[in-house]
Amino acid sequence: MSAFRLIRFVIVGITALVALLTAGNVGALPRQDKNQVDELQMGQEVFNELKAKGEIVESSPLYDSLRPIADAITRAAQPQYNHPFKFYLVHEPQPNAFATPGGNVYVVDSLLYFVKNTEELAGTLCHEVSHTIHHDTVALMEKQREIEARQVGAAVLLGPSRAHVLAILLIGKLHSLGYSRDAESKADLTGSDVCAKTGYNPWGLVWLFQDFQNANIGQLPQLLSDHPNDQNRVNALEKHFRNDPSVFGKFNSDPKSAKPLSVPKNAPEVFLH
Ligand SMILES: [Zn+2]
Repeated sequence: MSAFRLIRFVIVGITALVALLTAGNVGALPRQDKNQVDELQMGQEVFNELKAKGEIVESSPLYDSLRPIADAITRAAQPQYNHPFKFYLVHEPQPNAFATPGGNVYVVDSLLYFVKNTEELAGTLCHEVSHTIHHDTVALMEKQREIEARQVGAAVLLGPSRAHVLAILLIGKLHSLGYSRDAESKADLTGSDVCAKTGYNPWGLVWLFQDFQNANIGQLPQLLSDHPNDQNRVNALEKHFRNDPSVFGKFNSDPKSAKPLSVPKNAPEVFLH
C-alpha cells in the first residue's frame, strides 16, 4: 500500500465514520439542503469512479469541437442550477452523454462522430443538463432508497463512504436509463428552452429522434434506445415550439439548415489519472 493509498484509505474510513456520526444531523436538515449535499457528493464520487477507470479525457483536440457548445449551454443553463456546470469527454464503448448531480456533464467521445450536426449534439447536451436542473437523479435515487439502505449498511462495514456506494449505484442507473418517460419528456422541453437561449437550433433534438427512428435498433445509443417510441417526444417538442413562437419561431425546422459539426479524425486523447 503506497503512502497515497494509505492516506486515501484513512480518509475514506474517517469519512464513513463521520457519515455515521452525523447521519442524525444530516437527516435533520431541510430537504433542499440535504439534496444539495448529496448532489455534490454523488457527482464527485461518479467523477472519482470514472477517473479511476481511466475514462476521463484530460486533453484532446476533440475538446475544440465540444467547447463552444458546452460554453454556450453553460451560460444559458447556469442561472437555473446552483453548482457550476462542467463538461468532460469520456471514453466508453457506446456513444452517449450523461449528466450527474453537482453539475458535471459527461460526453462520450464517439458521440461527436455519431451525431449528424452541431444542433443534434447541442440538443443532446441541453437535454442532459435539464436532468440536472430538474434534480431527476436525486428523485431516481430516492425511489431506490430501500435498496440503497441495505447496500450502504453492508458497505459501511467494508469501508467505502455512503457517497461512494451511491455513486456506484448511480453509474449503473444512468447507464441503464432509469428515468421515467415523464422525466425524459420534461428534460426535452427544458432542454429545448436552454438550446433556444444558446442560439443553437432546438430542432436538433427532433432531428436526432427522427434519425434514430430510421436507424437499426442495435446501433442506438443507450441515450435513446430505452424509448423506441420517440414520436411522442417529437410531438411534445413540436407542440412546445408552436406554443411559443416568440422563442422558437425564428428557428428552421428543416434539417438541411443544420450546421455541420467539425470533428478531427483519429484525434489523440490524454486521460486523467
Ligand atoms: Zn434523458
